[in-house]
Amino acid sequence: MVTEIQARVLLSSHPKPDPWFGIRYTMNLYRGCQHQCIYCDSRSECYRIDDFADIQVKVNALDLLRKELPRKRTKGTVGTGSMNDPYMPIEAERNMTGRALGIIAEHQFPVHIITKSDLVVRDLATLQAISQVYAAVSFTITTADDDLGKRLEPGAPRVSARFAAMQTLAAHNILTGVTLMPVLPFIEDTADNIAAIITRARDSGATYILPAFGVTLRDRQRDYYYAKLDRLFPGLRPRYERAFGQRYSASSPNASRLYQLCRDLCDRYGLALKMPFYQPPTQLALL
Ligand code: SF4
Repeated sequence: MVTEIQARVLLSSHPKPDPWFGIRYTMNLYRGCQHQCIYCDSRSECYRIDDFADIQVKVNALDLLRKELPRKRTKGTVGTGSMNDPYMPIEAERNMTGRALGIIAEHQFPVHIITKSDLVVRDLATLQAISQVYAAVSFTITTADDDLGKRLEPGAPRVSARFAAMQTLAAHNILTGVTLMPVLPFIEDTADNIAAIITRARDSGATYILPAFGVTLRDRQRDYYYAKLDRLFPGLRPRYERAFGQRYSASSPNASRLYQLCRDLCDRYGLALKMPFYQPPTQLALL
């Protein structure tokens, strides 16, 4: 179901850039997400989205962005893609993200996008304009296997489509890389899988890999994930319960070995394990 809502405020500000992506302002144009990843943290109770499959479109979001952006005294990276995917299927028809990027380009703000969709390529020209300041697109890829990806992320484009989109962006000088997270314990945490993702990322023009070998689990999101495990991977739930109990952080037992593998491959391929952030001109002048 799709409904339209009015938002009070669009951009939420962070006092300093976040450590993963350097984001100063978070922008969500929708609530809910059609990609329906079985592990999605946005189902947690704290976000108060009761039916995550229902999509709410913030119909006044672009007006708010036009008002809010010029009032920001600090030029910092606008990030989108943490609570929903800005390129989920409805975006093809609504073009909220595409139009928001146009406003960001006009105001010459830097941008960081997290997505699982090749639809981002539609906005290549706008991203190229923004990249005069700073534009980065991080593709979330947690398995190199298209079939496994379809089971875990049923509404998202195939993994191979994400690599192809990455290649297109990189060929047009857009900074791009992989958010290699969450790597699901007992499902995706194998050396073969991690090596395949990093190798294909290198071949597709990625410049950075941001790994996290585990998943977070809490309240109703854990319940949802476990119900999906029962259906898709019978017998795996008891293994999770034994290994992680009620813990929020469910790290892969292979995490340190996989980090080492990731470091070795990234060294060999010239990939960074931290993405370059937007640097304001004043800081550049001081260098
Ligand atoms: S794409 Fe992201 S926000 Fe959407 S369901 Fe998947 S994990 Fe959640």
